Amino acid sequence: MSETSRKFLIGMLLFLAAGAGVGWLYGHLDWGLLAATLVALLWQVRNLLNFERALRTGDFETFRYGEGIWEQLFSRFRFERERGSRHKKNHRVLLREVRKSTNAMPDGAVILDVNNEIITCNRAAKRLAGLKRKKDRGQRVDNILRDPGLTELLHSGDHKATVEMMSPVNDGDWLNCRVVPYGADQKLLLLQDITERMRLSKMRRDFVANASHELRSPLTVISGYLDGLADDENIPPAWKKPVAQMRRQAARMRQILSELLELSRLEGAGPAKSDQPVDVRGLIEGTVEALGGHANTARMNIEAESTAKLQGNSAEIETVIVNLLSNAIRYTPPDGEITVSWRSGSEGADLTVADTGEGIDPEYIPRLTERFFRVDKSRSRDEGSIGLGLAIVKHILARHDAELIVTSETGVGSVFRCHFSPDRVVIEPPVPLAGDG
Ligand code: ADP
Repeated sequence: MSETSRKFLIGMLLFLAAGAGVGWLYGHLDWGLLAATLVALLWQVRNLLNFERALRTGDFETFRYGEGIWEQLFSRFRFERERGSRHKKNHRVLLREVRKSTNAMPDGAVILDVNNEIITCNRAAKRLAGLKRKKDRGQRVDNILRDPGLTELLHSGDHKATVEMMSPVNDGDWLNCRVVPYGADQKLLLLQDITERMRLSKMRRDFVANASHELRSPLTVISGYLDGLADDENIPPAWKKPVAQMRRQAARMRQILSELLELSRLEGAGPAKSDQPVDVRGLIEGTVEALGGHANTARMNIEAESTAKLQGNSAEIETVIVNLLSNAIRYTPPDGEITVSWRSGSEGADLTVADTGEGIDPEYIPRLTERFFRVDKSRSRDEGSIGLGLAIVKHILARHDAELIVTSETGVGSVFRCHFSPDRVVIEPPVPLAGDG
């Protein structure tokens, strides 16, 4: 018990004892005690009513209680109240500052609840995507920003992935979207304006495509004259070797240009569509037959266990098989072995080209799909390698929602696995035999 409470109780008991004492002097102890109790009660009731009025009106100045338990109660309450309003003011200032800084951010930020409903958003989200803080509160963001990629991103739970989408308010503008976890069960949708980046990348693509296209015509003329010279019996013997060399280089240049054009086309194209499911097994068999069987080529095996087909572009899937298989042939000695397999299951389907060739140093594996990347530049140039094959493979796979997974060990061999998602795989039901009921 606190000092004040003890004093209050002792004061009360002394007051009642004094009342009883006065009553006893007049021969009526009970009346004296009753009168003192009534006075004490009235005093407490008065203080209680004043306290209630102070709480109601907020006026803590008019009523004074002198010392004692009521004064303590009163000042304690006033102190807590003032502290509370000081905190509230600080929070308001802080909130205003946070809002000011998020509004100053160049990127859009949208806070979403567990159902992807908008809690709040900053000014940039309005400028970039047309979201309105008050009007759109409680609305599902994927109902306002209608983009299949964004919808998938919101449901995927992948906080590292990003998607690009066209701005719904500014024609021709592009946004990069990312979703990161925020608070308890909330998400932060970040929108970044990437219009400039997209414009530069399109400019680069167009430049490469135009330059490759323009270079093709003069090269055709040069190749024509070189072919004529090669066929000419009358040219001096000393020219024969340089002409042959020039023809080889011209052919190489033609290949570079056509691969660059193919890359530009793939980069600018959207997801691959198909009129008819692609018969991957048939393509593997055809490519192995076309490329294999030479004296200095490693032995080739086909392990096409699956009859599943692919939703995609047949010519592009064939390019993937041709590129992977010609690489395997180029980098595997004749006594080695190359296995091409096609497997499908509930996880999707895998097209794999494995070889027992020279392998690739692990440090180079992440760079294999870069344009013009070759592990051993001087050697691979001699062998006709350009370094665009795997870049083309990567782009084709991306258009088919697939990825390239490379594993390799130097001196042991390499495995190039193309993994297709189940959405792309078509499992056809077996054809019933004639007479089957
Ligand atoms: P290219 O246009 O020469 O075929 P790629 O992009 O296909 O170029 O391959 C890039 C590089 O990756 C090659 O130069 C080679 O160093 C390496 N590489 C590709 N496939 C294999 C393989 N099966 N075994 C070893 N190295 C390979």
